[in-house]
Amino acid sequence: TRTPFIAGNWKMNLDHLQAIAFVQKLHWTLKDAKHGDDSVEVGVFPPFTDLRTVQTLLDADKIPFALGAQDLSTKDSGAYTGEISGAFLSKLTCKYVIIGHSERREYHDETDEVVAAKVQAALRHGLVPVICVGETAEDLEKFGASAVPVGQLEVALAGVPAGADIVVAYEPVWAIGSGQAATPDQAQEVCAKLRDVIADKLGPDAAAATRVLYGGSVKAANIASFMREPDVDGALVGGASLVVDEFSAIVRFQK
Ligand code: 13P
Repeated sequence: TRTPFIAGNWKMNLDHLQAIAFVQKLHWTLKDAKHGDDSVEVGVFPPFTDLRTVQTLLDADKIPFALGAQDLSTKDSGAYTGEISGAFLSKLTCKYVIIGHSERREYHDETDEVVAAKVQAALRHGLVPVICVGETAEDLEKFGASAVPVGQLEVALAGVPAGADIVVAYEPVWAIGSGQAATPDQAQEVCAKLRDVIADKLGPDAAAATRVLYGGSVKAANIASFMREPDVDGALVGGASLVVDEFSAIVRFQK
């Protein structure tokens, strides 16, 4: 059985002071709920400059959120101005790192090969890569929903060992920030195909153990419909992860 994972990708929002207030509020709001009893894993993915502050706060107040970063370098150290090594992220007790988000692919020209190199970098440093894949509206029209994300995942998983701990996130680009989420049927169909890719590349045990998330306009009002699908194991949440009440309601989804 796979523990549901609700991951908040803050993107470029909340400075380190705002992050403190936000994480404290979120913790207090969730405290009475199931959170902390292992029935659902909650992850926060702040900007790099907030990571140290959030780490300290999680430690000090024993807040059971997993910490993740939004990106990392393909390299481990050296003359790469502005880059962040996976080694630094593990030192800050990051468990996860988002890789290949469509905004990185689009605005920073990250190719499938760069994504694959970042997956390797994450694994070298003991981080769990949250590998993002998804089709644009144009891809959807031309190739249907699954061809592009399946192809992206095949490249990202090349060279990943069978026992590696990974998370996959299906985020149709047309659903991100648009208010127009995929239907649960659409999400299920692609997530099932992504699980087949995991089975093919990493074996049946990995396919059974790996969480496949849906992302794109997830909110409190639609989370339960996604979680009812057998191959959707959680959500990667953008906009709604910045609103305490909304994100808490998503975490407290009822099947
Ligand atoms: P929204 O939830 O704002 O649509 O963003 C989804 C996303 O890109 C999460 O990584």
